[in-house]
Amino acid sequence: MRLLLLAPPGAGKGTQGERLATRYGVRHIAAGDLLRAEAQADTPADRQIAAYQARGDLVPDQIVLDALTPVVVAAAAHGGYILDGFPRTLPQAEAAAELAARLGVTLDAAIYLYAPDEVLTRRLLDRAGQGGRADDVADVIQHRLQVFAETTGPLVPYYTQRGILVAVDADQPPDSVTADIQAGLSGLGLTCPDGHEGGTRA
Ligand code: AMP
Repeated sequence: MRLLLLAPPGAGKGTQGERLATRYGVRHIAAGDLLRAEAQADTPADRQIAAYQARGDLVPDQIVLDALTPVVVAAAAHGGYILDGFPRTLPQAEAAAELAARLGVTLDAAIYLYAPDEVLTRRLLDRAGQGGRADDVADVIQHRLQVFAETTGPLVPYYTQRGILVAVDADQPPDSVTADIQAGLSGLGLTCPDGHEGGTRA
């Protein structure tokens, strides 16, 4: 199974990504986590990644591709992946499509989780109150939502045109979001490894 999660900050893509990865027995590849791990190292390049993340700006495409490509290649050889937060720009989407073609695989679905900005902001501020991330502060949250709308939003029509977009209302309890994702995958003709609906394309 090869899926990607396209969602603004606070929509729950981490939670849903982990659930999908467990269900399908594939790797959950969270771009933000990988880049945060890389940013821990003490080189000028790594400090640059940390600075982009702290501001809520996107890390440049080439840095993201260098970090993600080996992980995606390894996961593709082991049954697939759930991409969480990658691609986030049109050039990244095009690079991801070229990589998949080189590997002889195709993306099964792109899951778009949407919710109103007020809901997303409230969730992220709640997360901040529970010892959340350094970028969960009001002005950076605002900027991240704007970056999503302007730069990542165009990926919604991109994957719609490819006939693989599953749009799900994320302003619901996590179990309901998971159920709607499964229903959307079934609608694309994807059936589960255990024979139920919602897995690998038949
Ligand atoms: P996330 O954990 O998905 O909320 O991502 C946190 C931050 O990591 C983002 O605000 C960006 O700075 C960076 N980031 C994550 N994924 C990408 C990506 N695909 N392209 C560029 N920057 C990214």
